[in-house]
Amino acid sequence: MLCDSHAHLDAPQFDEDRAAVLQRAADAGVRAIVNVGYSPATWPTTLALAAAHPGLFACLGFHPNDAATWDDAMIATLAELHAHPKAVAVGETGLDYYRDDAPPERQRAAFVAQLALARALGKPIVIHHREAQDDLLAILRAAVAAHGPLHGVLHAFNGGPAFATELLALGLHLGIGGPVTFKNATALHDAVRALPLDRIVIETDSPYLAPHPHRGRRNESAYVALVAERIAVLRESDPASIAATTTENAARLFGIAIPDTLL
Ligand SMILES: [Zn+2]
Repeated sequence: MLCDSHAHLDAPQFDEDRAAVLQRAADAGVRAIVNVGYSPATWPTTLALAAAHPGLFACLGFHPNDAATWDDAMIATLAELHAHPKAVAVGETGLDYYRDDAPPERQRAAFVAQLALARALGKPIVIHHREAQDDLLAILRAAVAAHGPLHGVLHAFNGGPAFATELLALGLHLGIGGPVTFKNATALHDAVRALPLDRIVIETDSPYLAPHPHRGRRNESAYVALVAERIAVLRESDPASIAATTTENAARLFGIAIPDTLL
């Protein structure tokens, strides 16, 4: 039993064979996928896909790389879409100073607005972060100071034990994906060994960030099994128990019941 807690199944990379990709995920034991629609263009397709399959759930938000076009009025649209019973989380939002597609102040405005929306809806926030650690922690700490511990996940966590400890203290879960399978990811390996298991969820971020031995090629939800296997090695555990525990964690985090079948 596996849950891919972060995928982008609406991506054009899956247009040719989306049904086959989903079937392979089901065959690999994936019972739930949180599919992330990160722009107004993807929100309808993300919701439609979630509505069509018991194990597909929608996370709807506005990606920091698109924040140049962010407008606070979009919160109303997002809030309406979030009335859908399978819309389970807000995001992905956050800060990405590695890519300069959007000015940092627009990214921060979109992030703060979506944090407030998630809180108002009582849904978890799904956070994207790249090379913006100081500003990210400042925004999150201010939110915690004003409203208490966060409910959400920093997805594609790729830092070391110190950053992990800071994020856990704020209440967040950490999403571990393909990079944990890379030999040179030693700081991430150290973090994964040290993390409390009940705060880990696993993900693919497919079609991006494919794990070894698929690195550099298209990723897909079935490969989340490779992430569970690598975490099991790092923690001297077994893949089945890592898979079961991370699936239970995702169910709790997103407030979902894991169905008997994905499709
Ligand atoms: Zn993503």
